[in-house]
Amino acid sequence: MQSNLKVSNQFASLSPAFYTRLRMQGLTDPTLLHVNPDVLALLGLTMEDARSPQFLSIMSGNADLPGGVTLSAVYSGHQFGVWAGQLGDGRAHLLGAIRGTDGNGKPADWEIQLKGSGKTPYSRMGDGRAVLRSSVREYLASAAMTGLGIPTTQALCLVASDDPVYRETVETAAIVARVAPSFVRFGSFEHWYAAKDPARLRELLDYVISSFFADQIPLPDNEHTLNDVIEQFVDVVIERTATLMADWQSVGFNHGVMNTDNMSVLGLTLDYGPYGFMDAFRINHVCNHTDTQGRYAWNAQPSVGLWNLYRFANCFVALGADPERLKARLERYEGLFIAAYRDRMLAKLGLQTWQEGDDELIDGWWRVLHEQSADFTLSFRYLAQIDNDESALRRLFADTAGLEQWLLSYRKRLQDNEGDAQARASRMDRVNPLYVLRNYLAEEAIQAAAKGDMSVTDSLLQVLRDPYTAQPGMEHFAEPPPEWGRELEVSCSS
Ligand code: AMP
Ligand code: MG
Ligand code: MG
Repeated sequence: MQSNLKVSNQFASLSPAFYTRLRMQGLTDPTLLHVNPDVLALLGLTMEDARSPQFLSIMSGNADLPGGVTLSAVYSGHQFGVWAGQLGDGRAHLLGAIRGTDGNGKPADWEIQLKGSGKTPYSRMGDGRAVLRSSVREYLASAAMTGLGIPTTQALCLVASDDPVYRETVETAAIVARVAPSFVRFGSFEHWYAAKDPARLRELLDYVISSFFADQIPLPDNEHTLNDVIEQFVDVVIERTATLMADWQSVGFNHGVMNTDNMSVLGLTLDYGPYGFMDAFRINHVCNHTDTQGRYAWNAQPSVGLWNLYRFANCFVALGADPERLKARLERYEGLFIAAYRDRMLAKLGLQTWQEGDDELIDGWWRVLHEQSADFTLSFRYLAQIDNDESALRRLFADTAGLEQWLLSYRKRLQDNEGDAQARASRMDRVNPLYVLRNYLAEEAIQAAAKGDMSVTDSLLQVLRDPYTAQPGMEHFAEPPPEWGRELEVSCSS
């Protein structure tokens, strides 16, 4: 690794109550299975750095980041609608932050967090480990979301070992190195609210604002009251959550475990467990086999986002914020979500400006997809081609009667559009991905990785980093699932 690495420990500068400093429990005889070159570049590291023995020692939990303070953070949260009390990084370690760039050449600090690196004081009944299966899924999903342009934590690399991990069966251990400006969650704030510790709550508020929102939100001072600042902060988190939900809906992403401890205050997609990108569209699709009530179904996500924001905003009452004023902020969420959602849907349908009746057009589209269990991703993609060839779209529907009806109103609506069909098709192709991380593709990558073959992961990363562009030789990755891959069960077991 480079000797001029700039490492900082901003989170560790918070009072010790926020975390436990500790050693990791590294993997035995680890192998570096894969490195994401795009994330490596963000950190200002090279492939040569990644090939160094030191890199593997760090990423396998066997050495600290030079200059870094290794710690696990405490947080709390609501799980499946119920207060769960204290949680925390039960199998994750923050190593410190590396100074790199934000992707546009501006300097940026990236926190590095290992997941699966051993027990911590927050492990409760857990073993501190992560299995290869779920680690591959998190590694790929992070890249998929980044490629789609959706805010997310990223994944630097994937390390594996033969160390056994006991789940329903015996599996093997892996570690994903996650990268983000911060991993602070709604639950990080809820923790201090529940602990009745306004001083720590205030410390966290000041930390998050000064570290991540300094350009938009002032710290409380003579000119800016604490209440003003809190409202501005809550506003930003509401906005980011609303647009994130619109982003998820627009690509058929189902998070699966939208507990408040899995909600990032930066509006990043956080904690990839039993997530799923829908294949066959089902409006109330539930990707998490463990979620028997369907609390986190696809069509529930936007309202769960708001429910979670209520839990988050409520914390600031302990700092003297006015509940009625907070409620007024939260009431903006629905409008923000709808505006962002309409924007995305309009673009996905190739339409330019919002018109009366467009909500019905969109709802009608969802209805025909749902009734025929049509493929989410390809339906949008093939809709772009209807002027050349309607048959590709038709083939996604067992019965096309509903589709024909809908196409009549769609074609009528297109008459108000500017530009020709060609221009519309290419606009649509820039917002409707051809490739998403389908469950069966992740499964193929997992099966291969278990045999030490990283070629599927490698090809998937290549298509997912540019999912809007058809790539020669990669046709397979755009296909709907074969029979065996349609109803793969994913659960909280990871
Ligand atoms: P999740 O549902 O993945 O958000 O996890 C909920 C909580 O359980 C978090 O605090 C995790 O750190 C913790 N956890 C999950 N799996 C393990 C494990 N194998 N060992 C220790 N803690 C775990
Ligand atoms: Mg979590
Ligand atoms: Mg998890």
